[in-house]
This record gives sequence, C-alpha cells and structure tokens, in this order.
Amino acid sequence: MDYICFECHSTYPLEGNKWKCDCGGLLSLEYEKKAIDFTETATSRNHSLWKYINALPFEKEDVWQEISLGEGDTPLIKIGHNVYAKAEYYMPTLSFKDRGAVLLIAMAKKLGIERVVADSSGNAGTAIAAYGARAGIQCDIFVPESTSSKKIAQIEAHGAVIHKIPGTREDTANAAIAMVENTDSFYASHIYNPIFWEGTKTYVYEIFEQMNNKMPDAFIIPVGNGTLLMGAYIAFQELLASGHIKKMPKILAVQAENCAPIMKAFEEGRDTVEPVEHSGTLAEGIAIAAPARGTEILHAIWETGGDIIGVSEESIIEARKQLALQGIYVEITSAANYAGYLQYVEKYPELKEQQLVLPLCGAGIKSN
Ligand SMILES: *Cc1c(COP(=O)(O)O)cnc(C)c1O
Ligand SMILES: [Zn+2]
Repeated sequence: MDYICFECHSTYPLEGNKWKCDCGGLLSLEYEKKAIDFTETATSRNHSLWKYINALPFEKEDVWQEISLGEGDTPLIKIGHNVYAKAEYYMPTLSFKDRGAVLLIAMAKKLGIERVVADSSGNAGTAIAAYGARAGIQCDIFVPESTSSKKIAQIEAHGAVIHKIPGTREDTANAAIAMVENTDSFYASHIYNPIFWEGTKTYVYEIFEQMNNKMPDAFIIPVGNGTLLMGAYIAFQELLASGHIKKMPKILAVQAENCAPIMKAFEEGRDTVEPVEHSGTLAEGIAIAAPARGTEILHAIWETGGDIIGVSEESIIEARKQLALQGIYVEITSAANYAGYLQYVEKYPELKEQQLVLPLCGAGIKSN
C-alpha cells in the first residue's frame, strides 16, 4: 500500500509521513482492492462500517478493533416521495467525519505514531480528537477562532490540545501545516490524507445495501473540502469495477452561495478552482474558500453527469426549521443539504420522479 501523486505518479510508503508529493501534487491511495460480497455483509453481526473490511485497507484482525466506536450503519429515513435522508448524526461524535477519522487514526496507530496534527472547521477535529483519545495518540487540533463553542468544548473534552486561530479557515490550515513541518508530525488531515476517503466511501456502500442493492439516481452532497464527495466517488468507481452497478449515479453538489468557489469554477467551465473572497456563511462546516482538492472534486461531478448549486443563508435557516418540524434536528451546515434538495427539484422538475439521497451530516446540538 502506497500514497501515489495525482500529478507525477510518484509513490511513497505510508511510513514516510508524507502529506504532499515533492512536486507539490496531492496524494491518493494505491492498494489492491477486493470486491464486496453484499450477501455476506447483509447478514453480518457487525453493525458498523467495519463489516466492509474486505474493501478497506486493513486486515480482519487488526488495530481497528481497539479503536472503533461502532461508527457507520446509520439509518436511511424516508423524508418524502422518492427522497431519503441518511442520518449521519447517529455517529459517535455526531457527524459523518467519524467514518474517515476512525480509519485515519487506526492507520496512524498501526504505523506507531504517537502524535498527530489536524485542522478543521470543527467536526473533523472532534472526530480525530475522539479516536485519538481512544488510540492513546496525542492530538493537536487547529480550528478557526469563530468555530462553534459546542464543537470546541467537544474537542477539549477528548483531551486534545486546541489551537484557536484568528482569521480565515485558510489561516488555520497554514498554522497546522507549520506545526506539521516544524515538528515532523503525522498530519491527520481529512483533506490531504486519502485514507480518510477510504472511510467516507462506506457511506455509499451502506446506501446501496439499504436500497436493496441498487443505487439512487442521484446523491445530494454538500461540498466544503469534498471529503464526503470524494469518498462517494471512489465507492462509485469500485462498485462499477466490481460489476455491482452499470453506471454512476449523479452527484448533485451543494455549496453555500456566500462561499462557493467550486460552483464558480464549474459554471465557468474551468478545471481549477480559484479561491473566493468570503462574505461569511452560517454553514461553517462548508465555508471553504480555497479547497485544496478542487480539481478532483470538479472532475468527480463532471464524470457522473452531475451539477453544483449554491444555497442562500435564508434558505438554510428555513430548511433547518422545516427539518426540525419533521423531528430531525441538524446543525446549521447540514440544513444546506435540504435547502439544496428543494432548489434542485425546482431546477430539474424531473428529479421528483427519481430516487434521491441526501445526508444529515451533523447533529443539531453542535450549532450555537
Ligand atoms: C465536514 C462537513 C461538511 C462538508 O464536508 P467536506 O468534506 O468539507 O466537503 C458538511 N456538513 C457537515 C456538518 C460537516 O461536518
Ligand atoms: Zn508528484
């Protein structure tokens, strides 16, 4: 198993703590994959994402067993005609980031790492801190000063050292990278480390199984740094290669209108993403003005014949209200997905007759 550079295809062993290629290119993961046997997983007694162990970069008997908190296998809730919501707020730290974090920390443990650094707008940092605590790995978590106090309290409770950085989300990332470079630490980044996607891809396996071994026509996916989107795309590629599906479902991506660099590049037909000036959005979890993986995200949306839209602040607030009145309490960022769904069916009325799945990414009590 190696990291491989998207640009120049150089490979690096995992032991080297690389988070970026020497050429500046970003890394993906290369290893021999086995197809999933969905008849076997359907009757598994393991009600977590680890029932897909054959498709994950770990052995059956491995360090993950000591680190898992039972993450994954979240409910799929019917919320309307042909529309389903995947309730990721059932996760141990109350967001989908647990899918990626458990794999990343299990791998760090396997590599004998004692200290990791991560930066996040809140939920990824919380997930890394929780699994880090469980694995006995010291975590330094960098967050923007403006992060919800609930998320900061959650991170501190797990014993991580928290670094609150003034300025933009990009300033936070730069501060974390400086510490990684200065201390030669393992960068447990959900953005740069492709092991994170090996966890988020299980989101799609579960939905495939929950829909009786079929895919919905489209996946509505929020995009900040694209960690759920890239995981979903990897799962599509795998299920296509193993013959479980004949074509990829569409990715219908959602950004906050106030911070939508990927939507802008998509509309302008560019394959690189320019950072945008950021006018501030309540959807802190997707407020990413300069997404490092922009090109890969655009490619994934194009490849599936998908689209990307921006949602307004008002529509996010209204969507959160509407969901809560149906018994579903999500954090503000997460309401953007439902707002996106409502906007998509207006833009493409034919979607009303197609099966759609949207994620409820984080729990309501995470927002101030
Ligand atoms: C992380 C997160 C997102 C967006 O995920 P990206 O990986 O940054 O695209 C959306 N909603 C919530 C609640 C999140 O925590
Ligand atoms: Zn390279």
